[in-house]
Amino acid sequence: MRIILLGAPGAGKGSQAGLLEDKLNIPHISTGDMFRSNIRGNTMLGSKVKSYMDRGVLVPDELTVEIVKDRFLKEDCIKGFILDGFPRTLTQAEYLDEAFFKMRMEITYAIDIYAPDEVIIKRLSGRRICSGCGKNYHIRTKPPVKEGICDECGGKLVQRNDDREEIIRKRLETYHIETEPLIGYYKKKGKLLKIDGRGSIEDTYEGMLSALGMENDFN
Ligand code: AMP
Repeated sequence: MRIILLGAPGAGKGSQAGLLEDKLNIPHISTGDMFRSNIRGNTMLGSKVKSYMDRGVLVPDELTVEIVKDRFLKEDCIKGFILDGFPRTLTQAEYLDEAFFKMRMEITYAIDIYAPDEVIIKRLSGRRICSGCGKNYHIRTKPPVKEGICDECGGKLVQRNDDREEIIRKRLETYHIETEPLIGYYKKKGKLLKIDGRGSIEDTYEGMLSALGMENDFN
């Protein structure tokens, strides 16, 4: 199954991709994670993309396409994949169509996870990430046992640069202008599924599995 997850930043794409990855045993491909790992590794690409990410605007299409272009050829993608955060512009969607056409592949579904801006701002501004292992927390809904410290590895919890409220608002504005039109793009192709992302991770997962016609085994 080849799935694209659409939806605003904070709608829950990453959490749902992680759950689907385990259920379907196909890789979760996140361009945001790829960029962050380049920034952590101080690569040339990392230094090029950091300022865009810090400002909450999109990384230029050429750099983004460059980072994903060979990913689909890896062996773990044979059974499919879950794309989280790509495509984010019409140019990227058209690039993907062309690349898949050449590889004789087709997207199975584009899933739009919907949540209103105010829900997203509350969610993202409370998010904290472990600087050691990357585990996600939330100061209200999923706090660690000891404030500021990861339950798993004892690492320090930090706020992503782009999870500050003014940057979240910019990311949402960018989403509405650049990415939201992709909902219509995939609808026209008959590939769109829409699910409600306002509730908990479990509720959203249930909605997604039911839209995909699959059984829920969340526990
Ligand atoms: P994410 O973790 O998916 O929210 O992505 C974090 C940031 O990475 C975004 O705000 C963008 O600056 C950049 N980014 C991730 N994916 C893309 C993409 N497909 N196109 C352009 N920029 C992207």
